[in-house]
Amino acid sequence: MTSTVETPWFVQATYIVAAACFIMALKLLNSPKTARHGVWIGEFGMLLAIVGTLVSHQILDYTWILIAFGFGAAIGVPLAVFMPMTAVPQRTALSHAFGSIAAAMVGTAHYLTNYSKLAGPDGRFEMAALVMEMLLGFLTFTGSMMAFGKLQELLPGRPMTFRFQNVVNLAVLAAAAGIGVVLVFSPGLLWLFPIFVALALLFGVMLLMPIGGADMPTVIALLNSYAGLSAALMGFVLHNKMLIVAGALDGSSGLILSLIMCRAMNRSFTNVLFGAFGKVAASAAGDDVYAGKIKSATAQDVAMLLDNAARVVIVPGYGMAVSQCQHAVRDLFNLLTQKGVDVEFGIHPVAGRMPGHMNVLLAEADIPYDHLIEMDAINPTFPDTDVVIVLGANDVVNPLARTDPASPIAGMPILDVDKAKTVVVIKRSLSPGFAGIPNPLFANDNTLMDFADGKKAIVDILSAMKAS
Ligand code: NDP
Repeated sequence: MTSTVETPWFVQATYIVAAACFIMALKLLNSPKTARHGVWIGEFGMLLAIVGTLVSHQILDYTWILIAFGFGAAIGVPLAVFMPMTAVPQRTALSHAFGSIAAAMVGTAHYLTNYSKLAGPDGRFEMAALVMEMLLGFLTFTGSMMAFGKLQELLPGRPMTFRFQNVVNLAVLAAAAGIGVVLVFSPGLLWLFPIFVALALLFGVMLLMPIGGADMPTVIALLNSYAGLSAALMGFVLHNKMLIVAGALDGSSGLILSLIMCRAMNRSFTNVLFGAFGKVAASAAGDDVYAGKIKSATAQDVAMLLDNAARVVIVPGYGMAVSQCQHAVRDLFNLLTQKGVDVEFGIHPVAGRMPGHMNVLLAEADIPYDHLIEMDAINPTFPDTDVVIVLGANDVVNPLARTDPASPIAGMPILDVDKAKTVVVIKRSLSPGFAGIPNPLFANDNTLMDFADGKKAIVDILSAMKAS
């Protein structure tokens, strides 16, 4: 597919502009206000990179590219159009699986067509890059497919563990890496190659087995960074600077994102990868925490509270995504603001099940960005807030994070909703959230529980407010 001819200047130019677009896109994606522009600039950069590569005279035959384009579009377009918003985490996992298998297959093709030229000291750097690229590509493929399976509930979401799991996993990785090293020095040992591929694929499966379904978004961000690194290594092999830049950006941003998510959950990387989180909590009983202290409220009670409030903060969580009530929430927001109530949304960095989950849902419902307030900015305002509506959120408002050092969420920064005058919690039951622990907030004197599905609760509150 490639020759050693030098890249023409206009291709170089498109690559430079495309790289600048990718960097700008990442910068703009930092804030909900500019994220949409970030996506457009990123898409434009990708278009430039593709056009640049296609017009480059390095490509000798377009037939297979057109066939692949047709296949890719046939899968990608329906995925983008029909996948619901709640399925974005698994859709992302699937995209990483496709991206990484593409990188691994390109690496395989390059190896199988060039292995004789790669023998000897001159080919060693290229061969080392190829081996690492294929290792990351294949393991990211099966890892991402496992993540997809768990999130889509095709596979059990709970952590699957067995004795000496970490030792076995490391042994599989070490065996794959060991064979990789042998291949770097002796690329002609073709019989070793299928074993190398099988071990890399197996490691991807085993890496994901002990990780619970709800931890998948963090792991997906990590797999994203592996796929990026794999693409960057491929860039070295194919002498394609665009791939190196885009892969490095992807690799580093994926890693940074997974670190940010770990920090926001007060977890370490190793805990996410090896901790089998989600097992801990099942044993924790809520009875002691809740017995005799829970006060229920009806939609009418909540409507009355809201009628008399000057400032309301809505704290959405995973339950808002499940009940898909963002449009009903927008109606409530509109009604309250029309009445002159100051309404803001308190956004926790890990509310929901993927980074920016709440921002995406609220943006979809056209809630103005300047009303979405991040945790550090909204926390000092809770003592002056009349009513907080906790909508399907649980862990991100759990005061145990501040008070119980033995809790799995100990030290996780939370939204201090318990400091508000009144807290209304909308959820269906007293079931725990992702961390599986009881939440003393529900038993507080200033808390009222509205036990209902999120959408039904908001619609009922709206009706009650309109009727009053
Ligand atoms: P939680 O998982 O803590 O709680 C969600 C709550 O929503 C549950 O208690 C559930 O209660 C309620 N719920 C579910 N369905 C509905 C419904 N239809 N209507 C109303 N309520 C509903 O969610 P949070 O958003 O508070 O916290 C996110 C958690 O996920 C954190 O622990 C975070 O660390 C973790 N996490 C987040 C990631 C991210 O990127 N955002 C990634 C990985 C993990 P009930 O069943 O009683 O209705």
